[in-house]
Parts: sequence; structure tokens; C-alpha cells
Amino acid sequence: MNIDNISVRRRVAILTWLLPMSIAFLVVLFYLGPVRWFQANGNVANPYFGASLFYATAVAVLTFLVLRQIGLWLGETKQSISQAERDTARLAQISKTSADAILSLNADGSIDSWNYGAERLFGFLDVGVLGSPFSALLGDNSSAEVESRWLVGEVQRIGSLRGHETTCLDVRGQRIDVELTATLLRDHSGAPDGMSGIMRDINRRKHHEEETQRLNTILNTQAAERNYELAVKVQELGRANSELHKLDETRSEFVSLVSHQIRAPLTNMGGAVQRMQRDCKAINPTCARMFTIFEQQVDRLDRLVQDVLNASRLEAGEVSLQPEPISMMPIVRQLANEIRAGTPGRTIHLADKPGLPLVYADRDRVAEILANLLDNADKYSPPDEKITVQLRADQTEVTVAVRDAGSGIPPQDLERIFDKFYRTDSSDAQTAYGYGLGLYVCRRLVEAQGGRIWAENHPDGGALFSLALPVWQEKHV
Ligand code: ADP
Repeated sequence: MNIDNISVRRRVAILTWLLPMSIAFLVVLFYLGPVRWFQANGNVANPYFGASLFYATAVAVLTFLVLRQIGLWLGETKQSISQAERDTARLAQISKTSADAILSLNADGSIDSWNYGAERLFGFLDVGVLGSPFSALLGDNSSAEVESRWLVGEVQRIGSLRGHETTCLDVRGQRIDVELTATLLRDHSGAPDGMSGIMRDINRRKHHEEETQRLNTILNTQAAERNYELAVKVQELGRANSELHKLDETRSEFVSLVSHQIRAPLTNMGGAVQRMQRDCKAINPTCARMFTIFEQQVDRLDRLVQDVLNASRLEAGEVSLQPEPISMMPIVRQLANEIRAGTPGRTIHLADKPGLPLVYADRDRVAEILANLLDNADKYSPPDEKITVQLRADQTEVTVAVRDAGSGIPPQDLERIFDKFYRTDSSDAQTAYGYGLGLYVCRRLVEAQGGRIWAENHPDGGALFSLALPVWQEKHV
């Protein structure tokens, strides 16, 4: 209905004023005529005039209001209709110019609208395709018909179909992969009336997907190859590892056997030399000096054998510790005396420190560790220089610090000297007898007892080694 053409609104507007005015005019006529007649005939009152006047006025006012309401309603209706017409036109424009292909099908499945996007995608102009069955787009063969029928059936059954991927043919017969979203259309009574479809070109996406899949397959193949190679390598490593393990066991057994075999004659030699020193009457001063050197070297050899044995036992987890509450001062004092006796002219300064708490550690192991530190201080500093040993304690640890006046340790080696077989490049280390095992064994033994060991260079020169062991407490019992 076109309201503007028939001008209903305008007519209603005119009637809104005209009708009540006509009624009012008639009432006035109706009122004035009889009044004059009655007045002419001597009657001045008519009982129906008042009521007639009231009803006539009421009818006129009501007519005015009704017609005015109709006028307003018609105005609103016109506005809604124009809005609807504008919306429809916009929708039509969007659909027409959309880059996606938008089409609609009749109830019989033939194409009845075809937008610009569809023209671009398929290459058909709307005149060439309107009225054709939808299956024509899918290839116009039996399988296309089956698919088309299935599609229409599904849309009618569930109302809409989203993301259906299919392949269409364009005007040149080339395949186009599309994603179709179809929705059931209904007429004004709600009965199914064809369907709309939006088709999106997914060729590029498909291409990417295929490319990704191809790359994935290549990657998977390569990964499988690498995995296989890795598995082979792991197997080889496993074999090599177990061979190494066996070798290591053999080596440990050998080391342990040889060390034991060496220690026994060493002990005998040491004993023999001591006895000769004590009992032999014909010893001249040169022999006496040689005996001292001999004894010293036997001690060092014994310590080396001891270190080798300790290292192999530590690595095999065979070291058993017997911790007990011990006092550090007597151990340090005895070791200092031994060094003094071994290196005449060596001064070892050990400040007395009464009242130190006991530590909880294995006495023999602690003696071994301290012997190593003192032996190193003796080895790596000139024989006439002083070695200082200091003890201190706090709530948790007793610390023994051994300082010598040698050339110290290169800063980059301060940690590495605790590595197995590590020796610094300094000339002192190269000329002094050793294998780089002592500090390695020391650290392992200290840590096994909950303590710490570290090396520093003293600001006034020389190396400073510290050994800290836990203070004995009630909980250790
Ligand atoms: P070894 O003394 O048998 O070589 P250690 O494990 O006891 O083995 O010491 C490792 C290295 O640390 C030594 O070779 C030496 O280079 C360095 N070192 C140890 N103690 C000192 C020290 N007091 N002064 C200087 N260098 C030291």
C-alpha cells in the first residue's frame, strides 16, 4: 500500500476538522430553526433542546478525537513502512554487493536470486543462472543432484546448515572449493519457502591446509627418521654405557686391589726406616737426613694411595662414616706437629682457642681432610714461610682456616681445584708432587658430613683454605 499516492492521511486530516465542524454547523441550524419557530408560536421552552445540544456536541468532539487518532496511527504506520522499505533496500544492497556469493532457491530448488559476489565467484551472470537447479552449480551430474537433494532436505529438516564444505564448478568448468551456509526461508504464513545460501571461496584456505598437511607429513617423516636415529643412538649409548660401567667396575676393583697391595709394603717400609733410625748405631748425618726424606716421601705416597682409595670408594658409594662429637683443636695440633717434624724450619702458628664447641664428624676423615690442607700449605709455599692455622666458631659451625704464604691460587681456579685430577698451571703446582685428587676427596668427604670447604686468596698473599663442620647438638645423638 502506498499511503502517499492515495492521500488517505491528508483526507483523514481534512475530515478531522471538516466532520466535527459540519456536525456543529448542523446542530446550530437545528437549534436556531426550532427556537425561532417556537418563539414565533409563543413557546419559549423545549425540553429536548438542551439534551440535543449536548449529544450533538459530544458526537462532534468524539468524531474529532477518533479521526485525529486515526490520523496519528496512519502517520506512525507510514513511518514504519518507510523504515521497513529502507531496511529492505539496504539489505538488498548489501546482499547485491557482498563479496560472498549470496543466492536464494525457490521451494522447487531452483535459483531465484544471485548477487554480485556469486557472479564474481562463478562467472555466471544472473540471467544465465536464474531458474537453473542448484545442482547445476555442483556439477550437474547424478552425484551433484544427490548432494543438492540432501542439502535441501537437511535445511528443511533442521532449519539451517553451517560450514558445509563442497566443490562447485565455475563458468569455465573449473573446480571451486566453497563453504556453504544455508538457511530455510518461510513465507508470511510460516510455511517453508525455499532457502538462502551464502557461499565463501575457501580455495586459498584449502590450499594452505593442504600445504600445511604436506609440510606436516614431511616434518613427521623427518621426525620419525630422527626418532629412529635417536633410538639407535640411545641403544648404542646404552651399550657403551653398560660397557663403561663394567670397565669402571673393573677399574675400581683394580685400583682398590693395587692400592691395598701398595699400602702394605709402604707401611712396612715406613716401619723399617723408623726402626733403622732408632736402632742402627752407624748412622751418619747424611743418612739421618736421607731417612727423613725417605719417611716424608713414604708418607706422601701413602696419602696418595689413600686418596685414590677414597676417591674410588666415594664414587662407588662405599665410604662409611662414623660421626661422633669431636674436638677439633687436638686433631689440628697433632697434625701441625707432624708437619713441623717433617719440614724442619717450617713455622706453623696455631693460636690457642679454648672453649670451642664440639663438632659432629668422623674423626679419621676429619684428620685426613686437615692433613691434606696442611700438606698442601706445606707443599705450595716456601719451607721457611709461616703457615697459620686459626679456629673459630659460631652457633652452627666450627671453622678451621689454613693460610700459607705461597703464591696463592689463580682466581679462575678457586672452584676448579676441587675437581677431580685438577691442578693449576702455576709452576709451584707443576713442580710439587701430586695428582689433583686430594681436594676432590676432601670436598666429597666434607659434604658427606654436612660441612663446607672452600678456597680464597688472602688479601696479603698466599692461599687460605677453610673447612667448616657442623657443631654437635643434642639432635645428633
Ligand atoms: P695435588 O696437591 O695432589 O695436586 P690437590 O687436590 O690437593 O692435589 O690440589 C689441587 C691443586 O690445587 C694443586 O695441584 C694446586 O695447583 C692447587 N693447590 C692446592 N693447595 C694449594 C695451596 N695451598 N697453594 C696453592 N695452590 C694450591
